[in-house]
Amino acid sequence: MKKTPLFIFVLLVALVVVAFSLGPAYIERDMNRVSPHTNYVVSEQAKTLHASLLIGDWHADSALWDRDLSKQYDYGHVDIPRMQQGNMALQMFTTVTKSPADQNYDSNQTSARDNITALVVVQGWPIKTWNSLTERAIFQAEKIHDLARRNGDNFMLIQSQTDLDSFLQRRALNQSLIGGLLGTEGSHALDGNLDNIQRLYDKGFRMMSLQHFFDNKLGGSLHGVSGLGLTDFGRQAVMQMLALDIMIDVSHSSESVVRDTLALSDQPLLVSHTGFQGHCQSARNISDLLMQDIAEQGGLIAIGFWDGAVCDNTPKAVAAAITYGIQLVGAGHVALGSDFDGSITPGFDVSELVAITHELLESGVTEPQIRQVMGENMVRFLQKNLPKH
Ligand SMILES: [Zn+2]
Repeated sequence: MKKTPLFIFVLLVALVVVAFSLGPAYIERDMNRVSPHTNYVVSEQAKTLHASLLIGDWHADSALWDRDLSKQYDYGHVDIPRMQQGNMALQMFTTVTKSPADQNYDSNQTSARDNITALVVVQGWPIKTWNSLTERAIFQAEKIHDLARRNGDNFMLIQSQTDLDSFLQRRALNQSLIGGLLGTEGSHALDGNLDNIQRLYDKGFRMMSLQHFFDNKLGGSLHGVSGLGLTDFGRQAVMQMLALDIMIDVSHSSESVVRDTLALSDQPLLVSHTGFQGHCQSARNISDLLMQDIAEQGGLIAIGFWDGAVCDNTPKAVAAAITYGIQLVGAGHVALGSDFDGSITPGFDVSELVAITHELLESGVTEPQIRQVMGENMVRFLQKNLPKH
């Protein structure tokens, strides 16, 4: 009789140990899959052009997961070795802090159970991150700072125009160097407190998105229930972000929020991961008219790599969305916004980016346009909109 409770206790401890050590990898293998595929056919012309590109991407949620991004994995979509194989140069790392149960593109309640809380606990994050979304963003930022500290030859964090200049100079001599930037996914990461804008800025955040899948204190989500524009709090937040030279990302925002933000801001906006309605009719994408307004104000529209944005997950579908965007808003306003490691299933990971260059050439996109879309637009945008020092 006495042995039974001890046995159960040992079994429970063993189960907890197994859950915490194997759980995070098990979860990520399930959440960030790549569709099985054979090697993509790539022309010699595409290989040569791709090797000469400076490539940048506006959206990857890689800091959310329990991987050491300096090492290569056989799951997930992004790590430094695979970025080097794909010739990726610049990556915006976006920090997810809250995501509703039964997440969908049509209607999510702000009060829905949050999936990230369980993930944070299973991954063994500090207790202060359990109840604070700001702390979750900061914890992910610290992982990227740590990556830069440990891998100075391969990776640097870019927080200013000065940093970007030095990155470009170093990259010209060392093509394996990667530059990272920090952005939030949804401004519920402020925990309802405007002072946290400065706090996140001080931790290196240079892009903030306003909403994620649900309405928040700043205004309506494209996938929420209110459809509201910016609230008074939202207006104050946007003004503070602009005053600090924080770039504003309106992906996931309601169309009313996008319109209000365009009216409020004289600075260009980003849509960091999206598709175009006219190419892929999806509740995930805002109207083409609004995309044109964003472009007219100097903004950038970054194309995602998953079916919800471009109606398929192949390099061909991504190239088709880019080609459509070039016709709609001009090659100077289209960029890459993969959403890698964002619980999507693309048809390729970052190491296989050359397949997009190949498909763009096949679609008749010119080499100068390919250079712009694949990264030059991002560099130009950062050169203009990052803080000077
Ligand atoms: Zn997203």
